[in-house]
Amino acid sequence: MQLTDNVKSVNGIGEKTAELFARLGVYTINDLIHFYPRNYLTYGEVTEIAKTSIGDRCFIKGMITSYVVVKKVRNLQLTTLTISDGTGNVKLTWFNSPFLKNVFHKGETYVFVGTMKVKNNMREMSMPEYYKVSEYELMRQEMQPVYPLTKGITNKTIQKSIIKVRNLIANIKDNLPEDVLFSNGLMSISEAYENIHFPQDEILLKNAMKRLAFDEFYRFIFNTNRLKKINLLLQNNHKVIKGKEIAEFVDKLPFSLTKGQSQAIDEILIDMGKDTTMNRLVQGDVGSGKTVVAAAALLGVILQGYQGAIMVPTEVLAKQHYQEFQKFYSEYNINIACLVGSTKLKEKRRILEELENGEIDLVIGTHALIEDRVLFKDLGLVVTDEQHRFGVNQRKKLSEKGDAPHVLVMSATPIPRTLAIIMYADLDISIITQLPKGRKPIKNCVVGTNYRETAYKFIANQVLEGRQAYIICPMVFENENLDVSDVTSYTDNLRNEYQDKIKVEALHGQMSSEEKNAIMEAFMNKEIDVLVSTTVIEVGINNPNATVMMIENAERFGLAQLHQLRGRVGRGDKQSYCIFINGKESEEQTKRLKVLENSNDGFYIANEDLKLRGSGDFFGVRQSGEIEFEIADLYNHSDMLKLAQDIYAKYGNEIVPREDFDDISKVNNSNII
Ligand code: ADP
Ligand code: MG
Repeated sequence: MQLTDNVKSVNGIGEKTAELFARLGVYTINDLIHFYPRNYLTYGEVTEIAKTSIGDRCFIKGMITSYVVVKKVRNLQLTTLTISDGTGNVKLTWFNSPFLKNVFHKGETYVFVGTMKVKNNMREMSMPEYYKVSEYELMRQEMQPVYPLTKGITNKTIQKSIIKVRNLIANIKDNLPEDVLFSNGLMSISEAYENIHFPQDEILLKNAMKRLAFDEFYRFIFNTNRLKKINLLLQNNHKVIKGKEIAEFVDKLPFSLTKGQSQAIDEILIDMGKDTTMNRLVQGDVGSGKTVVAAAALLGVILQGYQGAIMVPTEVLAKQHYQEFQKFYSEYNINIACLVGSTKLKEKRRILEELENGEIDLVIGTHALIEDRVLFKDLGLVVTDEQHRFGVNQRKKLSEKGDAPHVLVMSATPIPRTLAIIMYADLDISIITQLPKGRKPIKNCVVGTNYRETAYKFIANQVLEGRQAYIICPMVFENENLDVSDVTSYTDNLRNEYQDKIKVEALHGQMSSEEKNAIMEAFMNKEIDVLVSTTVIEVGINNPNATVMMIENAERFGLAQLHQLRGRVGRGDKQSYCIFINGKESEEQTKRLKVLENSNDGFYIANEDLKLRGSGDFFGVRQSGEIEFEIADLYNHSDMLKLAQDIYAKYGNEIVPREDFDDISKVNNSNII
């Protein structure tokens, strides 16, 4: 057996299991080794039934005191039995598992693991795991890996398969020299794989994760630096020398630019005049005014006779940018088009034709722009807005539609500068730190659901003054099992509440593009006073007249996402307000939401979020497809990131990342709305 062999060469994996593995993205033995557990369970000592706490995952040992009964209830087959350990009884139930009738017999003793519940004064467990007493003793104290599953494959199958390749794991050669491992306290790669699947204890598991995180970072740094070297070699075929014209454009804007904005534009103009092409990231918190920076850059390119393109993550945002750019360029003879998934066929044909013959100067669109049939005459600059919603490969695909066009990416993800320099090693960075003048800081409050009525009155008063409001609900439709607000019934209720004196409309991702666009347009035109929406409005939407953002079930969102949502207000010179409704007033939730109440600063919030949660996704970076790590966590493993950077700097190309795992910068289309 070799790492590159198909999983079918593992004893016990047949055609059918291989197909299930394929669904999990596991094709080769190598993939199998890199299929990491998402969690680990420890099996504790058994508890007396009388002492178990309701709602907890419990380990109990009991003798079967009843017959095993299988009966049909509606279309379910229920298997039930009762156990006792002398301190109490528990009723156990399994669905659609009639074979258990042959497993369990009255008088036998087993260990059961499951969540303890109470019904009609009787303790119950539904679908508990079951183990023979001796089997359980062996398993106890070991950490049991829990793998991500797909229908038809069990955790046991995966575990058994990995055990069969365990000796291959032991022989994997390390790409790091021993002295590097030793002097940095890193585990060897084979030990790391061994411990990620079969951890002996928490410390070994932690060290295994550290080593794997190091490898992911190292590979990432290695690749971005290689990309940078390629970029540095790309000859600039689209020199832009339009400083004077851009200065005129800036002068005529209805506002004066912030220092950060001017500096970003200057840096872009210098880049585009150089001998090599530009690759630049513009980073600035929500509302810092990144769009106008892109507009200035694109204007330079277009005046020089080249074409420009902007890719955004949602149709709603594409439409909005389209209107904004028409205003920006109203004094110029510039032909702008908007290309999105829902663009009518005839219109689409015209756009494709005019992009190819050069009649269109600027196209604004969604990922529809990277379809194969989109061709340009001479693409000089590609801009990706809200870059964290796109994968590296999608950005690349758009660039490849031109002959080495300049690249500008815009991001509201507040990564500290030191980190940004490592993570975006292939890009130069401009940071816009201050917000435009005249902005009043948003006033925030975190309140319970009993505040709702007051909030409705407050919103009504704002509407009377000519302002507009957003209300965010986590769901589209009502779900009986969850006590969570949904856009559909919320809209109905609110219309009742306001008795149609205030115009309330709903917006959510399950509407057709036409519907969504019509509603956004009406909202922009002030034909709608209150927009009840899901998070579809999270990115980019700009309506400076909206002054209230009310978020229902705020406890269900990450701080980062809440900050992005809040960024939809406070975009004009009017005082804006954000009301976070805490639907679950636990102390922890209140503490978390207070972070938002106390600050409007994205960097601060990001850091607090990390402190509170410790791990997980950081402003969506990890889940975004932009930078996708399996194990590495930007903050928990920041020491590994630094180490990877240091080792790359010291050994450069002498240490090549192990080639046996996938490129971590995968395209992730599922993130595109
Ligand atoms: P973001 O950085 O979130 O993309 P936008 O580019 O959408 O922000 O800008 C937010 C709002 O601020 C827009 O209405 C824009 O016209 C306005 N704006 C941008 N720059 C300035 C400025 N220097 N002074 C005043 N308003 C500005
Ligand atoms: Mg924006």
